Parts: sequence; C-alpha cells; structure tokens
Amino acid sequence: MLDLAIIGGGPAGLSAGLYATRGGLKEVVMFEKGMPGGQITSSSELENYPGVAEVKSGFDFMIPWQEQCFRFGLKHEMKEVKRVERKDKHFVVIFNDDSSVEAKSVIVATGGSPKRSGINGEDTYWGKGVSSCATCDGFFYKNKEVAVLGGGDTALEESIHLAKICSKVTLIHRRNEFRASPVTVERLKKESKIEVLTPYEITEICGDNSGVNGLKIKNLENGNQSELSIAGIFVLIGYNINNSVLQQTDGSMLCEVNQYGNAKVNLKMETNVPGLFIAGDLREDSPKQVVCAASDGAIAALSVLEYIEHTK
Ligand code: FAD
Ligand code: NAP
Repeated sequence: MLDLAIIGGGPAGLSAGLYATRGGLKEVVMFEKGMPGGQITSSSELENYPGVAEVKSGFDFMIPWQEQCFRFGLKHEMKEVKRVERKDKHFVVIFNDDSSVEAKSVIVATGGSPKRSGINGEDTYWGKGVSSCATCDGFFYKNKEVAVLGGGDTALEESIHLAKICSKVTLIHRRNEFRASPVTVERLKKESKIEVLTPYEITEICGDNSGVNGLKIKNLENGNQSELSIAGIFVLIGYNINNSVLQQTDGSMLCEVNQYGNAKVNLKMETNVPGLFIAGDLREDSPKQVVCAASDGAIAALSVLEYIEHTK
C-alpha cells in the first residue's frame, strides 16, 4: 500500500511530492494523466513567481520542478485517475483502465482550466494577447487599452483590477444584465476608465505577428458591426474545475465541496475526510496562482506527514 497517492502533477502536486519525499515518506506516487507541469505550461510568459526574476515560458519554468522532485524519490506514473474511494481507513485510487492502487493518504491536486469562448482568433492568439488571468498578465498591458469578455463576478472584478493598470478597459458582455453580484456591478459603474458594451459579442480577435491588435464586435440589439483597437483581451467566462475524481458512483462527492464544486479545506489543506487533502486550484478560494498552488502542495504534504505519524 502507498503511503501517499498524489493526483495531478501541476505546481501543487509537484510541491506536495517534494515535501512528502524530502519529509521521509517512502512510497509516494504522483499520478498525472499527461506530462507533469500543469496548466501553467500553456502560458508563454510567467513573471510573478517570487525569486525568479527572469521571465520564462510556463513550460521552461516547470522543467526543474520535476527534476527536483524526482531527485528526492517521488515516483511518477502517467495515468488518468477515474475516482478515489474510501475503503475502511484508507483509500482506493481507481484509474481509467479500471486498475487500482491502495493508499494510506491522498492529495488531490487536479486543478482546472479557464473556459474558452471559441471565437475566431482566440486559439491563434492565446498567450499572445488573449489571456484568462488578469492577475497573471495585467501588468503586460500597463498604460495600454484592453478588453474583457464576460459578465460574471470574475469578469467584473478583473475589469476593476485592470482599470488600475491599463489606460482603458472595455467590458464586453452578451446580455444587458450582468450575472455578477449587484454590489460588484455598482463598483464597476464607478470606474471612469471602464467602458461597458452590452449586449455585444466579439466576432473575431484580430492580430499580426506581434499578437492581438484589435477586435471585431457586433451590437446584438441592432446588428451593427464595428472594430476596437486593443492590445489585449481577457476571456473571463468561467472556469472548469477538475473535481471528477471526487465523484462517487452514487453521484455524491467524496468530501465536502462548495456550490461551484471546489473542495472545502482548512488551513492544513485537510478535507472533512481524514487522510484526504486537496491542494491548488481545486480548493475553495484558491487565488489560482502558481505560488499559491505550490504553497498548498507543501502544506498538504506536511499535513500528510503528521497524519501518517498519528495513525501509525
Ligand atoms: P494545475 O496546474 O491545473 O495542474 C493539475 C494537473 O492535474 C494537470 O497537469 C492535469 O493534467 C492533472 N490532472 C487533472 N485531472 C487528472 C486526473 N483525473 N488524473 C490524473 N491527472 C489529472 N499563475 C501565476 O501565478 N502566474 C501566471 O502568470 C499565470 N499564468 C497563467 C496563464 C495561463 C494560460 C493559465 C491557464 C494559467 C496561469 N496561471 C498563472 C495559473 C496557474 O497556472 C495555476 O494557478 C496553477 O497551475 C494551479 O496549479 P495546480 O497544481 O493546482 O493545478
Ligand atoms: P460565471 O458566473 O459563470 O459567468 C460567466 C460569464 O461569462 C457570464 O456572464 C456568461 O454570460 C459569460 N459567458 C459564458 N460563456 C460565454 C461565451 N461563450 N461567450 C461570451 N460570454 C460568455 O463565471 P465566473 O465569473 O468565472 O464566476 C464563477 C463563479 O464564481 C460564480 O458563481 C461567481 O459568482 C463566483 N465568483 C465569486 C466571486 C466573489 O464572490 N467575489 C468572484 C469571482 C467568482 P451569461 O451571463 O449571458 O450566461
């Protein structure tokens, strides 16, 4: 039986692996369905990880993380986990091919991914002017004009954040009513640097070799089409949470989750199920940053060491 099964090999899973193996656990395996590194490997630039002054691509940034973990004995298996079940006082990790492994403790760090809109040009310019994270990329557009797509709390809150950095923010939403909470809508209206376009849709994200330079937009009330000159577009239309491994055969969740599907944890990354820990973007109130996911992973692993010691 494994001491610890880590599910997901992004910043949270890798940090958990480092701390668990360096902390003395012998049988630790990280199950990752693809190459380790997580969603940040799709980012062309990362410049907000403390202590790393050089701006790197997410892919290059994550390479030494793996080397460092494997040096301390973390084992990695390229497998997709279907489900985690509780059995007596331990866990069964079930894979997509229906094979399984038992573990005394589990850290689930399966993260998530921002939703994409499917608009023409979005894939072409993703990471080259199209972003899904204002905290990560807002600074690249200091004193420039940007647009935000979406009408939920994330789009409105991030528009307000971007207005502090950028010269102008155009918020584009497909309906006249916002999904965001009324208090956030009121805050948005007070921001002089934000222009709101509703009901509008973006028909194309335009650009050239240096990245995004404009949008084609359509007024959904009268059908009029126009163009906007912008340096960047933030697509903030929701987030897919990878919580399927927590889902049980009867439809219930292995541990408590909130209304959005994020796992509820305490400051030790403990869930309400003893021995089950959640780290990174999957947890409730995650700031969705690499540094925070890494911290979560380290905390979860330290909690596992304590848990294994107390249940010996
Ligand atoms: P993830 O990175 O999502 O890793 C989860 C891993 O679990 C993935 O590798 C996935 O393949 C694996 N997995 C999922 N389900 C299963 C399963 N069933 N079985 C096995 N494996 C599974 N943050 C910053 O701090 N700065 C930035 O500049 C920045 N820029 C970003 C740019 C982009 C384009 C994106 C998408 C995100 C960016 N972020 C940035 C956010 C950052 O990438 C995330 O907060 C961070 O990666 C979360 O780490 P995680 O380990 O919790 O999850
Ligand atoms: P969300 O609430 O699902 O809103 C997504 C928005 O994007 C909606 O306005 C939707 O339009 C729009 N949209 C979806 N698909 C689109 C598409 N293909 N093209 C154009 N627009 C599209 O997502 P979220 O803002 O990320 O929030 C997720 C959850 O977290 C919400 O429950 C939210 O309340 C919560 N949250 C809370 C806080 C907070 O409390 N401070 C902060 C952030 C998020 P329609 O409205 O027309 O469907």
